[in-house]
Amino acid sequence: MTDVAALDKADPLAAKRDAFSIPDGIIYLDGNSLGCLPRAVATRLQEVVAREWGESLIRGWNDHHWIDMPARVGDRIGRLIGAQPGSVVAADTTSVNLVKVLSAGLDMRAERKVILSDTGNFPADLYMAQGLIRALGRSHELKLVEPEEVEAAIDDTVAVLMLTEVDYRTGRRHDMAALTEKAHAAGAIAQWDLAHSAGALPVDLAAARADFAIGCTYKYLNAGPGAPAFLYVRPDHLPNVEPFLSGWMGHAAPFDFDLDYRPAPGTERMTVGTPPILGLTALDAALDVWDGVSMEDVRAKSMALGDLFIKEVEERCSDYGLSLASPRKAEARGSQVSFRCPDGYAVMQALIGEGVIGDFRSPDIMRFGFTPLYLRYQDVVDAVAILECILRTELWREPRYQTRAKVT
Ligand SMILES: *Cc1c(COP(=O)(O)O)cnc(C)c1O
Repeated sequence: MTDVAALDKADPLAAKRDAFSIPDGIIYLDGNSLGCLPRAVATRLQEVVAREWGESLIRGWNDHHWIDMPARVGDRIGRLIGAQPGSVVAADTTSVNLVKVLSAGLDMRAERKVILSDTGNFPADLYMAQGLIRALGRSHELKLVEPEEVEAAIDDTVAVLMLTEVDYRTGRRHDMAALTEKAHAAGAIAQWDLAHSAGALPVDLAAARADFAIGCTYKYLNAGPGAPAFLYVRPDHLPNVEPFLSGWMGHAAPFDFDLDYRPAPGTERMTVGTPPILGLTALDAALDVWDGVSMEDVRAKSMALGDLFIKEVEERCSDYGLSLASPRKAEARGSQVSFRCPDGYAVMQALIGEGVIGDFRSPDIMRFGFTPLYLRYQDVVDAVAILECILRTELWREPRYQTRAKVT
């Protein structure tokens, strides 16, 4: 038996749990989909709504520096992903940011036609690439290979290597530095989606020499449902990026109201329209919880939580047809563990009904996210005990657990 009490006692991140509001009786294993609410967010939002919006009104853009929020908050995210100062903005959604960076990468390799990605990429990213290809009308091809075959498929026809570092289903992690190097050797641009990486594991964009990156803030960065996303441009590329979505907030002088577009000198050129100040405020406040946190501690605990979960599930639930869908080696995973289960949807609904929140990804994946800032080792053991009980009693067969909701 693992002595989980001792592990929790020795945990250098244990005190961070208090920074979050976690409902009583809930074990939350879905921080990879929507992070828990940091307590500071609620207070800050109330303050900004009442004082900045309520009292300053339009003056807030200058008096409270709302206009600088995309760049200022972007820099705070940049520190968590190894980005150079001034290279990250917080704006729009990950989907929209994908179009911005992909179009820039394709422009930089105008003579090439292939966008290389893999079948494990998040479909939203693939859909956006398909739409951009149609809009550009320059006969690009989106080439998909199995995740394990990406490296071998990088050749001198590839314009942009478009990957997500951590697979949303299995948690399998690509080697960002190695694949970026290989892409560069073949003359391609490397763009990374960090949706399941930012706040989950150490990322070093500058060291990897990644060309572009994008990602979410509502997952491991805990900024709330639909929070603004982020976007990274390697600083030496910026002068060559002529934004495809050439919005007025990315203009060199938005309030000159010129009739023609001229990009802003900084990464602000990658922004489009009026920034969502309340969303950015929540994000800004959510980032406070990272003060003083070592990403190495986060990674070490994340791997240990995942390993413990796998061990417990395999010891206690192996008679019920569950099989590990994630890499067994912690180094090869992000911060989630997935199991295939034939009745996975109903089992997950029953688990949620019993207070253990994970999620389900079609066709048969039960997905569990491990967020080191607010999970305890004890939670992992307790969650598996509840899972075992549901499987043993077949609670999941109850009709109320069979109907599919819109969001799974
Ligand atoms: C969650 C996620 C997204 C979500 O994009 P939105 O525009 O915020 O809906 C995109 N890409 C990946 C890889 C994701 O995991």
